[in-house]
Amino acid sequence: MADLSTPLGKVVGQPSASPLAKHRGLHTVGDLLDFVPRRYFEPGKLTDLSSLVEGEDVTVVARVARAATRPMRQRKGKMLNATITDGDHELDLTFFSAYGHEARLVPGALGLFAGTVGRYHQTWQLTHPDYQIFDAEQEQEAVEQYTGNLIPIYLPAGKQMPSWKVRNVAQIVLASLGQIADHVPPEVRKRRGLVDIDSMYRLLHQPSTDADVSRARYRRKYDEAFIVQTVLAQRRIAGEGLRTTARVPREGGLLEAFDARMPFELTAGQQEVSAEIAKDLACEHPMHRLLQGEVGSGKTVVALRAMLSVIDSGGQSALLAPTEVLASQHFRSITSMLGDLAMGGMLGGSEIGTQVSLLTGSQPTGVRRRSLLDAASGDAGIVVGTHALIQEHVQFFDLGLVVVDEQHRFGVEQRDALRVKGNQPPHVLVMTATPIPRTVAMTVFGDMETSTLAELPKGRSPIATHVVSNPVWFQRTWERVAEEVRAGHQTYVVCPRIGDPGVDGPPGATTGQWSDEDVEVAFAEDESAPPATRELRSVLEMEVELRDNPALSGLRIAILHGRMAADDKDEVMRAFAAGTIDVLVATTVIEVGVDVANATVMVIMDADRFGISQLHQLRGRVGRGRSPGLCLLVTETESELAQQRLLAVAATNDGFTLARLDLEQRREGDVLGARQSGGKSQLRLLRLLRDEDLILAAREDAFAIVDADPGLEQHPALRDVIASALDDEQAAYLERG
Ligand code: ADP
Ligand code: MG
Repeated sequence: MADLSTPLGKVVGQPSASPLAKHRGLHTVGDLLDFVPRRYFEPGKLTDLSSLVEGEDVTVVARVARAATRPMRQRKGKMLNATITDGDHELDLTFFSAYGHEARLVPGALGLFAGTVGRYHQTWQLTHPDYQIFDAEQEQEAVEQYTGNLIPIYLPAGKQMPSWKVRNVAQIVLASLGQIADHVPPEVRKRRGLVDIDSMYRLLHQPSTDADVSRARYRRKYDEAFIVQTVLAQRRIAGEGLRTTARVPREGGLLEAFDARMPFELTAGQQEVSAEIAKDLACEHPMHRLLQGEVGSGKTVVALRAMLSVIDSGGQSALLAPTEVLASQHFRSITSMLGDLAMGGMLGGSEIGTQVSLLTGSQPTGVRRRSLLDAASGDAGIVVGTHALIQEHVQFFDLGLVVVDEQHRFGVEQRDALRVKGNQPPHVLVMTATPIPRTVAMTVFGDMETSTLAELPKGRSPIATHVVSNPVWFQRTWERVAEEVRAGHQTYVVCPRIGDPGVDGPPGATTGQWSDEDVEVAFAEDESAPPATRELRSVLEMEVELRDNPALSGLRIAILHGRMAADDKDEVMRAFAAGTIDVLVATTVIEVGVDVANATVMVIMDADRFGISQLHQLRGRVGRGRSPGLCLLVTETESELAQQRLLAVAATNDGFTLARLDLEQRREGDVLGARQSGGKSQLRLLRLLRDEDLILAAREDAFAIVDADPGLEQHPALRDVIASALDDEQAAYLERG
């Protein structure tokens, strides 16, 4: 008897196993059982030829009536035309290469034929259908097997292994399968109405009815959620056992001094969240908190206050940004907010002051070495840098707090990598402006506490958003930009590409680390958008175009993108912040975090190429000062759907509503980033919003089990499944890193 780990070759023979391994990566019985049919056909008769619809799939049991080959006119080789019949009606089959088919499709042969109905010269036909001819002796048996049952259709595994052969392999595997241990305990199955694992596989591969398929699929989905939730439950328990240093601000310290000089009052929300964080930091248990706050809600100040209280108690803090542009901006704004408090040990610095260091990948070595030293000696109370860099290279004297800013890729591994930095685990605060629906919070951030900043500071101006889809208005867009500049304001123009032919290839594989270019690639690409049918706007071309545009003559135009040298990027951002650049043409490097209050207009070219949440983020760059913000979504798309998405963005400023819209189409695996890690991800079926109830149920079950039995001693099957899921995750992470 076979079990899930038995090599396929042992059960079905090497000739069948090889193509499955080669083309689909299936090596074991379990792999094959998890290679579920794409869909199911109901076997029909040909009786109703009048109701055939072009483009529809049909599957019929029929007999070959005639078959003939003839040479092709344009090419070498022979083609084969056959006609099949169910006794009453006929259907033509066409093969453009007779090779291999000629011997099988002989008049009188009975078989199963599946394909897509096409129309050619007034007759219905199937081109290159999948088929399986029955053995003459076993015809009766075969026919019986098909009547009344659904026919599973699989992805083929190369030429030698079409769908129906995969199906045969699955049948053999099922027939030889011994008892499999079910990782979902029987009481849970009963409570949730789940079929057991053996039935699940049988119903997936040999269903009789649609209801069978639904029951099996439901169980599979449940499994996905259940496994993730079990991992999270275990992680939470492991986290509860961790110990670290409590960090409490001291009287007459940095935090007090900073509060005294803060140029504004904290909003009620900022005060509340600050209090939550202070309470966490004062515990000997490491904080693990997610702060989600609408774009512009003032997360940085909250984080800075937390960092200062850690410094007050003798520790250091690290601030991790996703891009170099953002890291540099944080460095500049933190040093300027702190003033002499950031000049500890320097001439003119405050006595209680500390130092702030910046670390980015493209700094000159000397500067970087200085920063590394300051971090290691403890002189730098705050170290600001990009995620990758800090994670990999920096030693701290006493790291007390890690703040991760603008984490929209919801990877768990980035957070975990940090926990091993200090001698003891640091407190961790993760900040994101992408509102996270409940199910995501519970899955991806299931091991964290959550705080939310919903309100914006007073005195903010509303952002008006318009879709510009009529070319008649394109020029008007630039005139509007010129008017804003004449009124003393600044403009961003965002394009989906950098330009520079020959370099703009297809997006490369993303790594576990972020560079600015990664971010551009990852975000300037919305999967739900149809493929572009024309050249998209690029930063380099747009710059030329705008310089030549009479409406903008005399304006100071500059560009910014991830392929520029770090120094140049810095200089441009500095100049833009100082107001000496009027129009900044950029890629999505400016998407997150960039904060220039005097910028009032955001023009997004080819706006249909960007995701909903991304557009919301981009638009959050304007309307940060006293003057109202304007966002123009320029598009030439003809797609109705794309236009609707843009109109939805224009219709509301509520990030949460938009995030839901965005997530509606995404699968959990997509959000977790599991998709990049290859075909064998555990998360393929769950829909974050549609399956909310199921995820909640699985969470409740998993947490109850782990609470009662943290080591899963009573649940060996579950323990094994978790171990192998974690192995896969680990392997995928290593591959990417
Ligand atoms: P985000 O949450 O998007 O990261 P920031 O932290 O960049 O937002 O804050 C946006 C702007 O609002 C910054 O210029 C910041 O100085 C300002 N700000 C933050 N808190 C307040 C407040 N309570 N009152 C007025 N302005 C504030
Ligand atoms: Mg921010």
